[in-house]
Amino acid sequence: MNVLIVGAGIAGDTLAVLLGRAGRQVTVVEIAPRLRTGGQTVDLRGDSRDVLDRLGLLDECLAHLVRPRTGYG
Ligand SMILES: Cc1cc2nc3c(=O)[nH]c(=O)nc-3n(C[C@H](O)[C@H](O)[C@H](O)COP(=O)(O)OP(=O)(O)OC[C@H]3O[C@@H](n4cnc5c(N)ncnc54)[C@H](O)[C@@H]3O)c2cc1C
Repeated sequence: MNVLIVGAGIAGDTLAVLLGRAGRQVTVVEIAPRLRTGGQTVDLRGDSRDVLDRLGLLDECLAHLVRPRTGYG
């Protein structure tokens, strides 16, 4: 089965990896002209940790963990 995924955000990329491992032929298309080099922090909590673990990426992500500062300013 061929699968077309529109959007290479975290959801599209995750789905592409999981479907690829399940033997599907996956094509990801992205409208952005180039890789975005900036961004925000990503929360690793709840189900997201389980998904990262299933992807085999949890340890790598935890190695780059940035702990939130308490308070503001
Ligand atoms: C201001 C802001 C701050 C946030 N802060 C946090 C945070 O601190 N921590 C956190 O965990 N989450 C945060 N989020 C939420 C997080 O960004 C989203 O939950 C997450 O990015 C959603 O991922 P996604 O893959 O579903 O969508 P997206 O990241 O939106 O990815 C969709 C992709 O599809 C592409 N696309 C769209 N239309 C087309 C098309 N027609 N053809 C091809 N490609 C297309 C887009 O260019 C994009 O790359 C924040 C969101 C916002 C807006």
